[in-house]
Amino acid sequence: MACKHEDFKATVSVARIKNKGRFMAEISIVCTHCGVPMQFMGLEPGLNYDGATVNLDGFKARIGIHPRGERPNPLQKLAGYSIRNHN
Ligand SMILES: [Zn+2]
Repeated sequence: MACKHEDFKATVSVARIKNKGRFMAEISIVCTHCGVPMQFMGLEPGLNYDGATVNLDGFKARIGIHPRGERPNPLQKLAGYSIRNHN
């Protein structure tokens, strides 16, 4: 009988890129019943410290991360854009 994939184990590891001061979260998810990995959808393959990408087989998502306060958060970016639009 085919697995319905009802329970999952998600693993997140954090990679620190030496000499760049950058960090990435690497996420993978497998079904705990059958062990099949879940493929991430809608991400480009490659490496982007300022965005989200996926590895070539699609089973590991990589998302650029930063410590709090070192980059504008989404709300601050929105505020910045609205000010620019009004000027
Ligand atoms: Zn399964």
